Amino acid sequence: MPELLILGTSAGVSTANRHHFSMAIKKDGRLYVIDCGCPVSMLLKKMGEDPKNIEAVFLTHWHPDHASGLPMLLQDLQLTHRSEHLPVYGPEGTIRKVKLLQNIFIIPQDIYPYQLEAVEYNEDTLFERDGLKINFFKTKHLAQDAWRKIDDKHGNEIAPVAYGLVIHIDNKKIVVSGDVLSSQDLVHVLHDADLVIHEFGHIHPEKLNHFLKEQQISNLLITHIHHEWDLKTEELQRIVGAGHPGEVQVAHDLMRIIL
Ligand SMILES: [Zn+2]
Ligand SMILES: [Zn+2]
Repeated sequence: MPELLILGTSAGVSTANRHHFSMAIKKDGRLYVIDCGCPVSMLLKKMGEDPKNIEAVFLTHWHPDHASGLPMLLQDLQLTHRSEHLPVYGPEGTIRKVKLLQNIFIIPQDIYPYQLEAVEYNEDTLFERDGLKINFFKTKHLAQDAWRKIDDKHGNEIAPVAYGLVIHIDNKKIVVSGDVLSSQDLVHVLHDADLVIHEFGHIHPEKLNHFLKEQQISNLLITHIHHEWDLKTEELQRIVGAGHPGEVQVAHDLMRIIL
């Protein structure tokens, strides 16, 4: 059975109990890593997984709580002699950013035993491999005018854009919110979702409760937990799930869910 590996569950501020955001789908022994908050390679190993089994990496956006573990992962795979091609999918700007990152961290392609390929996706992209399908949808996390102005000022080198993912696996549909401006960013992709994985770094629990009921979401997993809620898991679950018959779970690091 495919599995969902919840690796790190914190948002942008470190906590004593949660590592930064990352998760993976495991199917037929292969790993599809979604976001690379630090320390993604260590967390995979803690879950008994070998990073060499990564089939592909997907970044929802380039904020450090989602991407800071990538250079460490690339170095880990270099030093453990990965030989397979590794695609890293990300939004526009990803090819340039991966190149920059390799230069910043002194890990150029020349020293790898594997071929790293940065691939830029957009809303028309369909990733399909061994019965797993992934589509990408833009969220408004970085879509405000203020970000546009900052990007313009810096010669459009920042590329502030963020996505969520729709995953189809074995007749199940999973929506991964990525970072959002509000839950409304997800409304157009929710139809027939079996599991919604919703971030909790930019949203009030009461609003999430309202959204859950309004959209009749049957199965919600809350992750990317705001640091002020780090230890208040039960309270968060109670507020978000109030008056709703569906399942609400708050993720913790190293959680394994059978899909
Ligand atoms: Zn984030
Ligand atoms: Zn973010």
